[in-house]
Amino acid sequence: MMLDHSFTPSDALWVYLATLIIFILEAVTGRLRTYTRRDFGLTMLTFLTNSVTTRPLMALAVGYLAAWLVPAGAGFAASLPVWQAALIVFFTVEFAFYWIHRWGHVGQKKGHKLAWLWKIHRTHHSATTMNSSIVQRQNIFWAVFTPHIWMIALFIYAGMGQGVAIYLVPFYLWNTFTHMHWRADARVLSNPAFRALSHVFIMPTMHHAHHGYGKNGKMYCNYGLCLSVFDWMFGTLFLPDGQPSRYRVPGGQVHWAEEAFYPLNMFGKRPEKQPASSQPAYSAATEGDLH
Ligand SMILES: [Zn+2]
Ligand SMILES: [Zn+2]
Repeated sequence: MMLDHSFTPSDALWVYLATLIIFILEAVTGRLRTYTRRDFGLTMLTFLTNSVTTRPLMALAVGYLAAWLVPAGAGFAASLPVWQAALIVFFTVEFAFYWIHRWGHVGQKKGHKLAWLWKIHRTHHSATTMNSSIVQRQNIFWAVFTPHIWMIALFIYAGMGQGVAIYLVPFYLWNTFTHMHWRADARVLSNPAFRALSHVFIMPTMHHAHHGYGKNGKMYCNYGLCLSVFDWMFGTLFLPDGQPSRYRVPGGQVHWAEEAFYPLNMFGKRPEKQPASSQPAYSAATEGDLH
């Protein structure tokens, strides 16, 4: 395969434009009616603060640390064929993400020692509806844990930058595909071939189920981003029959500043007011099912 040598991870940035176009389509077709001003503001705030703080800082810190600890490792994998580098990046990042994401949800158990990791990941789950912008809705410290920053910095240090660039585009587009309001797979959920394929790739309704609860919702399943094969291997695969009955996090809403910046405590622990009906009880059955 011939590739332009100037192809770098920054070439993947156009996917933000794709997200913006889908988000505008979601808005003009009325799919964001339940996406509150608070939701939109929090998503924009986390996108902007992540982009100028922890994401670049974490990538730089890991790069400098690697150069300091293993100077001989710089570019050691640069001679790998690009397609091999892209596949290595894809499988290792997906595998690491599966476990880190799963540990984030293990922290949902009351009193669990990983509760802090859930509080960092919870921001991604607290939106009132699914749409393409949710991909960017992350607490600023999620960038410290997600392999999409630290692992990718290491791969670039190792000389696999083109493989990273090739991985980033389909990864981001798939992520948008599974978060956007329209579930492209809604009509084929019971098709046997589609169900077989759902054991390998995370499909939109599967990720909607991960953001939902009630019927067809299982927040403690489907931890993969593009691949569901690790969910299948490690017993967390869930194939829903339709849309989850509700989105958001059971257990009430915390202050927007805590969602964006936890564990930094800038505005105190004061919870925001909200109607009682939007604070579903966190059921014992749900907790008992947590892995
Ligand atoms: Zn999650
Ligand atoms: Zn998600």
